Amino acid sequence: QSPSKPSPLPSPLRFSKFFQSNMRILVTGGAGFIGSHLVDKLMENEKNEVIVVDNFFTGSKDNLRKWIGHPRFELIRHDVTEPLLIEVDQIYHLACPASPIFYKYNPVKTIKTNVIGTLNMLGLAKRVGARILLTSTSEVYGDPLIHPQPETYWGNVNPIGVRSCYDEGKRVAETLMFDYHRQHGIEIRIARIFNTYGPRMNIDDGRVVSNFIAQALRGEPLTVQKPGTQTRSFCYVSDMVDGLIRLMEGENTGPINIGNPGEFTMIELAETVKELINPKVEINMVENTPDDPRQRKPDITKAKELLGWEPKVKLRDGLPLMEEDFRLRLGVSKENKP
Ligand code: NAD
Ligand code: UDP
Ligand code: UDP
Repeated sequence: QSPSKPSPLPSPLRFSKFFQSNMRILVTGGAGFIGSHLVDKLMENEKNEVIVVDNFFTGSKDNLRKWIGHPRFELIRHDVTEPLLIEVDQIYHLACPASPIFYKYNPVKTIKTNVIGTLNMLGLAKRVGARILLTSTSEVYGDPLIHPQPETYWGNVNPIGVRSCYDEGKRVAETLMFDYHRQHGIEIRIARIFNTYGPRMNIDDGRVVSNFIAQALRGEPLTVQKPGTQTRSFCYVSDMVDGLIRLMEGENTGPINIGNPGEFTMIELAETVKELINPKVEINMVENTPDDPRQRKPDITKAKELLGWEPKVKLRDGLPLMEEDFRLRLGVSKENKP
């Protein structure tokens, strides 16, 4: 599926090659959930300088607290729908709200972020000769008719629905990536991320794992959206970050699925959270939202073969790590376990 390798462009602004030994890495959306964990990992390498660009729509400075003031770290408040002139060697382009309630809140802004934001980051990559990685999504498969989903599947997406600003937006972002690659020789990487969970998710962002854990800790009923038999596959954030870095550092453009193939119905997820966190809570069935995909599970053959990557953290091991973080932020101690 990968197009023929383009001829390499001269990269006069490859700063790491000519002016310094450090690798300068831009992370857009670096104040968000996955972005901030990626920044933590990148900062572990003393040869990396990390620049975060974020408009703080769903992210927060708090997620980057420990790096503010660090000599190898810089935080810029900026919206990627506006042009950005900086000099970097690599771009991890994550900026985009990921939770349905946030991306549906201002759909026009969401599609602008996906299309104009990605165009700007590609323009930047072209000007400075940087490699760019896009965090696309399993939503590009829509309500999939093939299960599990391999990268070769073109998807089943509603182009005019309430989710389209996000899933069609990401599909155009992928198209832009490949057109810049074919036309301008830009080095691209595309990750198709499946549902990811872990510490620092917004507590009330409406995604299912954060909802269930917050509800269990508050002693509120877990809200399973009907029919409850729809499935998702949940990847712990440290596995996700490891996969993204391997993809960036490897030789394959992708798209490559990065996700955990363990598949659960929402009822199973609710029962697991109930058992692990608060056996007393009830499970309530509530109305669903339109176009909710009925099933989702990554085929990760490509990630295994091309990146030597597979997830290590099982759902039952990851949930307690997230519970700990949510307890701290909600102020519910273990002793007060309901
Ligand atoms: P998040 O909402 O926590 O992080 C997104 C970050 O982007 C936030 O810090 C937000 O403030 C910033 N942002 C949004 N619009 C921006 C703009 N116009 N300019 C600058 N910054 C902007 O979400 P996340 O879960 O960390 O997701 C990160 C990326 O991974 C997104 O691209 C998302 O589409 C993708 N992804 C995530 C999941 C998941 O399960 N978390 C699944 C598939 C794909
Ligand atoms: N761009 C940017 N930073 C750069 C270079 C370009 O934000 O360092 C933006 C630029 O404003 C444009 C987009 O990226 O909107 C695409 O740039 P490109 O050079 O590919 O196209 P053109 O400017 O010719 O439309
Ligand atoms: N969901 C649920 N209860 C909630 C929130 C979500 O049952 O409180 C369901 C939702 O209907 C969907 C699944 O969980 O089938 C995953 O939803 P989420 O918003 O986390 O992610 P996405 O739909 O983007 O995969």
